[in-house]
Amino acid sequence: MKDHPKKERTLVIIKPDAIQRSLVGEIIVRYERLGLKLVGLKMVVPTAEQVEGHYTLDPNWRRVTGEKTIKNYRDRGLTPPSEDPLEITAKILKNLKKYLTAGPVICMVWEGAHAVELVRKITGGTEPRGAPVGTIRGDFVVDSYVMSDADDRAVRNLIHASGSVSEADMEIPHWFKKAEIIDYKVTREDIMYNKELENILP
Ligand code: ADP
Ligand code: MG
Repeated sequence: MKDHPKKERTLVIIKPDAIQRSLVGEIIVRYERLGLKLVGLKMVVPTAEQVEGHYTLDPNWRRVTGEKTIKNYRDRGLTPPSEDPLEITAKILKNLKKYLTAGPVICMVWEGAHAVELVRKITGGTEPRGAPVGTIRGDFVVDSYVMSDADDRAVRNLIHASGSVSEADMEIPHWFKKAEIIDYKVTREDIMYNKELENILP
């Protein structure tokens, strides 16, 4: 039987810059207050292999990210550094390995209805400069492609969040063993998800 939609899960990684800036609590509270449930949590120092493995789980990631970057340059009226999406992604991946192995990160699995989509909405778009006010990337970080290009580094945006349900399904087992994800109940789920609101009045 297919899982109920309330069981959707997504991977969030609090990146090294967020930990250095003491934003762990600020970030967790955003997902928690929405009503999502934390079902997995650990701190690790990733290896370069783990980081490369993570970003290349989806065979299309290199092409899609390269194309997205080329479009972003054009939208800003700039000439992209290369017309070849794969060449652009190779550079991004090199810098991502530096970024994510620089210190500890916190890996989390969040569960709830539309977890993937809602976590992305709260997190905001990839480039903090353009991320809307109210999102984590929009509220807590100053960075842009102009800055990351000038210094040949990855754009520092505090968080990784799975981009789709299929991405989440590949990413979660990349970071967590089955036994590290905990199936449990929290009482507020009765209010959020039960068909009837029961047992409120005596
Ligand atoms: P997201 O994390 O929003 O899903 P992507 O999957 O496209 O974004 O890219 C992964 C990560 O690589 C981003 O979070 C960011 O840290 C970095 N990155 C992506 N595109 C660029 C770029 N053009 N320049 C610098 N860093 C980038
Ligand atoms: Mg992504």
